[in-house]
Formats: sequence, structure tokens, C-alpha cells
Amino acid sequence: MEHKINAYDSVLDLIGNTPLIKLNRSTAQFQGNYYAKVEAFNPGHSTKDRIASFIIDEAEKKGILTEGSTIIETTSGNTGFSLAMVSIIKGYDCILAVSSKSSPDKIDMLRSMGAKVYVCPAHVSADDPRSYYEVAKRLHDETKGSVYINQYFNELNVDAHYASTGPEIWEQTNGHITHLVACSGTGGTISGIARYLKEKNSNINVIGVDAFGSVLKKYHETGKFDNKEIYPYRIEGLGKNLIPSSTDFDVIDEFIKVTDEDSAYAARELARTEGIFAGYTSGAAMQALRQLDALGKFDNDSNIVVVFPDHGSRYMSKIYSDKWMENQGFLGTEVMEETQSVEF
Ligand code: PMP
Repeated sequence: MEHKINAYDSVLDLIGNTPLIKLNRSTAQFQGNYYAKVEAFNPGHSTKDRIASFIIDEAEKKGILTEGSTIIETTSGNTGFSLAMVSIIKGYDCILAVSSKSSPDKIDMLRSMGAKVYVCPAHVSADDPRSYYEVAKRLHDETKGSVYINQYFNELNVDAHYASTGPEIWEQTNGHITHLVACSGTGGTISGIARYLKEKNSNINVIGVDAFGSVLKKYHETGKFDNKEIYPYRIEGLGKNLIPSSTDFDVIDEFIKVTDEDSAYAARELARTEGIFAGYTSGAAMQALRQLDALGKFDNDSNIVVVFPDHGSRYMSKIYSDKWMENQGFLGTEVMEETQSVEF
């Protein structure tokens, strides 16, 4: 006999409906009220769970995916992890073509989630047959019934956030949100949320967070692609060296740029002041709040929602490692407690 047990069918039932958490100490000196949409509460610990499940569901509805089909993407980051997770539950093969620059930890993590990972040479041009873009395209052509997610050029990436993150924020704030601050990589998160919110209230101000070394801010301001803006930077998942079609520049009012160093310290401070252990781009978003407040963008009636895209555990050997910070030359002003070793 089946008893009535209170259980979820699978981890997929836990995607979305993430909490909005008030920021207290970290924004005490700023004008306005701050609320964080903490996406680490998704089962795959990032906002990318939403697009993975949404895009796969849409492909199923169109009959493109059937049992045993293959999902293909070119990322070692959060999207790869989320696609692997959804593929396991739904019985699909997941192939990820990643750059040889990806850390062994990340590759191991994806393989642990059942993905087949092709490691492709990093230092070849995008049109070289060995590049991860070309490998993904070839595998897609060769594998019947496969789906190439291609998140930078997939409108469903925006639709996923229009359908879930946007309505959640509107409901959680009872429509009282005045500003949205979110990082832009593919642009799916900010564009989908902003599109929904602006349909509800066109006065909501939307601010995208971009990296120094990325073209997004300049493109938004001038409509021109300026490759002089491009140079290497350390934050992963934020900014871009191309213009993604998954960014709707019309619903974003302005972009603000943040540095690698300020963003790293802002993430560390967030953990210590709010108890929220979030990723590098969450630090970037926090840093953007600091800069926007200093520019006088907010007043005491402002209700600002900031998106924190993922969890801090993915950055243990980066921003949460004192050694890494030191190696980057991030000397900052943070007062570090001396680490105490106790021998037993
Ligand atoms: N932060 C992190 C950690 C990410 O992985 C991404 C995705 N590239 C983003 C922010 C930006 O989100 P989006 O791609 O939706 O613009």
C-alpha cells in the first residue's frame, strides 16, 4: 500500500521559487532598501537550473527530445552543471564541449553528474575544427535528435526568466520594486526579468552589471561593437567579448562596470556581514550597489532587488582562498583574522 509521504518527485521540483532576502548590515550606510534574490537555493546551486529545465521542457513539447536524446552545450560553468542535472533525471545524454582552460575540479564535477565532457584546446580560433564551438556543432550535426542549447543565441534563455524569475520578483515585492540590479553574461537573466517587470511597471529602473574588459556597456551606449574594450579579466560569467542575441538591450536602462578586485572583496564581505555565501558575480552585483549608491541613484523610498546568481562553494580555490587573492595582487583593505592552527 502506498502511504501519503511528503516528498518531492525529484530535485527538478525544487527549481525556482528562490527566496528574496533582505540585506541588512552590508547596505546599512546606503540609501534605500535592498533585497537579494538568492539563486543558490536552486538544487544545482545557480540560476542556470531555470534555463536548463525550461529549454529542455520546450524541446520536449516540440517533440525534438525523446527518451535517450542528447543535450549538447559549450560550457564548463553553471549551465553545464544544470544541464547535466536535468539530463540525469530526464534520461538524456549530456555532452559538454569545454575549453582546456577549465579547471580539473569543474571537469570532474560535470563528469560526476553524468556528463560526457570533451576537453578542447583553448588557444585555437573559434572557427578551428578543434574549438569547443566547432566540436559542439559537429556533434550536434552528427547526433540525430540532439539539441544544441547555445545559450548566448537562444531566445528561450530569456523566456525562462520571463516565465519564472520575473514573476517571482514581482510577487515577492508586491509590485513595490523600483530598481533591478543584475549581472549580464548571456543577458538571459536581466533581459527576461526586466521584460516582465517593465510590462508591469515601465518606471522600474534596470541596471546591468558588466566587467572591465567586456563590450556590453559600450555597445549599449553607442550601438557599436568596439574591440578596444576587450581584454582579459578574472570574473567568470559576467560580461562578454561578443554581442549575445540573448541580451535585450532595450529593456536595460544602463550598465555599470566593476573591477575584479572590488568584486572579490564585496563577495567576501557579503559572507561576513549577511551570512550569504555567494559566487564571484554576486560580489560584482554587491559592488555595483556600492557604486550606484555613491552616484546618488537611490533614495530612501527605493526598493532595490539584486540578483545573486550562484553559490560560493564553486569559488573556494579563487576568491575565498587568501592565497589566490594574494597571487592576483589583491591587497585590499580587508582586515584578515590570523588563521589559528591548533594541534591535538
Ligand atoms: N553569474 C554567473 C556565475 C554566471 O554563470 C552567469 C551566466 N553566464 C551570470 C552571472 C550571468 O547570467 P546571464 O548569462 O543570464 O546573463
